[in-house]
Amino acid sequence: MVTPLNKRPRSGPYSGLNARSAKRFLTQAFSEAGIPFAEDDALEIVLAATGFDKIALMLRGTEFLTPEVFETIQSYMTRRLSGEPVDHILGWREFYGRRFKISGDVLSPRADTEPLVRGALSRLEKTARPILLDMGTGSGAIGLTLLAELPEADLLATDISEAALKIAKENAATLHVKDRAEFLLGGWWDAVPENLTFDMILSNPPYITNAAMETLETEVVRYDPDLALRGGPDGLDAYRAIIATAPLRLKCGGWLGLEIGFDQGHELKVLLNSGSWENITIDKDLGGLDRVVWARKAD
Ligand code: GLN
Repeated sequence: MVTPLNKRPRSGPYSGLNARSAKRFLTQAFSEAGIPFAEDDALEIVLAATGFDKIALMLRGTEFLTPEVFETIQSYMTRRLSGEPVDHILGWREFYGRRFKISGDVLSPRADTEPLVRGALSRLEKTARPILLDMGTGSGAIGLTLLAELPEADLLATDISEAALKIAKENAATLHVKDRAEFLLGGWWDAVPENLTFDMILSNPPYITNAAMETLETEVVRYDPDLALRGGPDGLDAYRAIIATAPLRLKCGGWLGLEIGFDQGHELKVLLNSGSWENITIDKDLGGLDRVVWARKAD
């Protein structure tokens, strides 16, 4: 029988609590509460509260916790048990190996979006000083990751939400790429000056149908903004808007890369079925589901 956290002395030799045992305790509490990925969440909370990385946890995991760390772990645990996701508790989420600040104003970046970034990097290998457009940038996960990976790239990042752009700008500063990023407020093409053309246009737009919005997990509905998820009656509103004008704004041979829902591959192929596009391909995510569509502007 484990002594509940609030019945233990706060720290010191008799608390019996160190980073390792705290992780075990949280894992057990989260699994009993039916939280999926209980161990991952417990690990993230303990690392954040102690300031340890995984190696420090191995080397120093049996040191007693200070009262401050103990209290932090306790408050994070309570919040997690009440349904708040770990990234919202901590205020950041890791994407492509980097930390992105998040809030209720942006979609929390997902590992699902990493294949879009990988596809972009492989297609930009031979482009000197690429000029990129990330439409609906949210936290900036896609565009800013590419700036960090490609030291010669420049980026225009847009969003219809001023609060989201503020977060993206903060992330640009933290990642030391803000000199190469410009941020403009507005819906899809309204935000993009007409005289600009790009080597690559990227977006992870809202693509969930109104009907499917009703079936999303409560934690997603409660913590990710509706604006970032809802794609209209058939989930394709944003794709129609982006694809209609993209050929005018891409350089010849430039690429359009869009994240899509697992069942939207066919519909996207139809939307891209005009003389403007070639090399249309659909990439799968780690789970083997359609996740990204690529199209090259025909010469
Ligand atoms: N571009 C951001 C991301 O991929 C936000 C996407 C969105 O809000 N739909 O994380």
